[in-house]
Amino acid sequence: MSCVIIAIDGPAGSGKSTVSLKVAQALGYTFLTTGAFYRGMALLSLKYSTEQTGELLKLYSQGKLRVVASIQGTEVFIDDENVTSQLSDEKTAKRASTISALPEIRQALLEPQRSFAKPPGLVAEGRDCGTVVFPESDVKIFLTASLDARALRREGFEAKESLQSRDHADSTRAAAPLAMASDAIHIDTSNMTIEQVVQEILEVVRSKCG
Ligand code: C5P
Repeated sequence: MSCVIIAIDGPAGSGKSTVSLKVAQALGYTFLTTGAFYRGMALLSLKYSTEQTGELLKLYSQGKLRVVASIQGTEVFIDDENVTSQLSDEKTAKRASTISALPEIRQALLEPQRSFAKPPGLVAEGRDCGTVVFPESDVKIFLTASLDARALRREGFEAKESLQSRDHADSTRAAAPLAMASDAIHIDTSNMTIEQVVQEILEVVRSKCG
């Protein structure tokens, strides 16, 4: 049985996580929010008070960070404690953005992300799913939205300025920057409902994968 891979990338607040989870559930596929690896690494970095690549990689190789993905969503454990509810705060996002610029960290997290590609399929969302993690994806979607629309969606979690500076850092870093794959389909979600975006993606999946 073959595995269908759907890669959904875009900046923070473009609607990626909400939309991707719904697409995964409609198709009965695993849902992986790849940001959970970087946010998990950020929590590890905060807990162990280190931003040193070598130390972070050592903690990771000791199994201190565990990411679990299923059709229900992605959960993160640190030292076997479920820290999923701590992933969404601004401090974690900022640290994740810094850590995710480290090439050795990105390299170490590639295989663990790819391990979720199992039949019947995977919906993976992030910044580099279509370009680096799953370049052979069956469907690639790139979601965008205006800064105002994205800031409104992230209200209560992240200030507009933080969103803007994280986007800038994610798009300009040397290692796997946020970028649209040449064969991705671009959807501007600024004036769309979640349901409209989900339906549009499902249409693309139906037309490409039958
Ligand atoms: O998507 P989310 O906002 O949870 O991602 C948090 C941070 O993790 C991003 O700002 C980005 O720096 C990093 N990230 C990444 N590559 C991915 C997913 C997330 O660099 N595929």
